[in-house]
Amino acid sequence: MTEHTKLFIPGPIEVRESILQAQTRPMIGHRGKVFEDLFARIQSKLRTVFYTSQRVFLSTSSGTGLWEGAARNCVTDDPSRGVLATVCGAFSERWADVFERNGKTTTVIQVGQGKAIKPEMVRDAIKAHPATFDAIAIVHNETSTGVMNPLEDIVAVVKELSPDTLILVDAVSSLAGVKIDFEALGLDVLLTSSQKCFGLPPGLAFAAVSDRALERARTIKHRGYYFDFLELEKFLVKNNTPATPAISLMFALDQQLDDMLAEGLDARFAHHTCLAEMTRAWARSQGFGLFAEPGYESQTVTCVDNTRGIDVKALNKFLASRHMNLSDGYGTLKGKTFRIAHMADLAETDMRALFEAINEFLRQ
Ligand SMILES: *Cc1c(COP(=O)(O)O)cnc(C)c1O
Repeated sequence: MTEHTKLFIPGPIEVRESILQAQTRPMIGHRGKVFEDLFARIQSKLRTVFYTSQRVFLSTSSGTGLWEGAARNCVTDDPSRGVLATVCGAFSERWADVFERNGKTTTVIQVGQGKAIKPEMVRDAIKAHPATFDAIAIVHNETSTGVMNPLEDIVAVVKELSPDTLILVDAVSSLAGVKIDFEALGLDVLLTSSQKCFGLPPGLAFAAVSDRALERARTIKHRGYYFDFLELEKFLVKNNTPATPAISLMFALDQQLDDMLAEGLDARFAHHTCLAEMTRAWARSQGFGLFAEPGYESQTVTCVDNTRGIDVKALNKFLASRHMNLSDGYGTLKGKTFRIAHMADLAETDMRALFEAINEFLRQ
């Protein structure tokens, strides 16, 4: 590929040349056999990646669209029930806002930035609530703070205390980089976007959805239109989509899923762990801190605590001259932290080149 700026930002992530090329195949119609075969191939492989035998909806939207879908299809309008939203940073806060804007009663558990949601907090919130929550919303990997929440432990508490509560998980910045077993955990919605650990361009979103979630959707009158799970299901069983999907992105997805499964999911997860460990070790070696609470550091994005007080803007300007780009802190964390994504197909050599360039900047 010609010299371009390599992305170490948490989405969109670096996309391999062969995957970019897959998008340039001649167009096909979406109401024919060739498309149905493409959809079926993708569906089967997505089920493997999501660890489910149920279904994985494919949406031509970014992940935010499926946030709205989960809110509309899984939470009833009974104001006494509502959703329990766990907030630990900017993305989880936004999802809570999506529930509210869709008119759903939203009970919030909030922890400070850099902290993780603990199972005890969920236990207390469930016990304190007079009615059963229709759903709980959990952002697995809070991209704004580099915190990975203890999903398994949180899910165990919900299953024990409130088995009828649907479990909705945003794994936008972790799915395909970290193992999340939809079936074993008993999740109801597990959603992600194409431009993070899948290593694809932005524009597609995926959600594994349980039979139980579809049953809930049947009881809700106003589910909207574009993200109506029942409509998506009606077409999915025919290997199709209700509206015209981003077919070029599906060509790229088909190719990328082949490559991911050929490499092996466990190998890909181990690769993400390896890059995360390298990144943390580099940060510490340069005298920086890690922003995430110890024990909850993300495997896919490291939020570096800017304890040395470097000028992050100047750093990125320097990196631009080396054709690299990382992320400043998110929102109020701008300048106080900076973020390095280690997702999808970034290699150890890419990470080392980035660290060398930052070290060079630090020596100036
Ligand atoms: C990127 C991100 C989103 C937003 O996804 P879009 O695909 O941009 O809509 C939501 N949640 C998390 C945790 C993210 O990292």
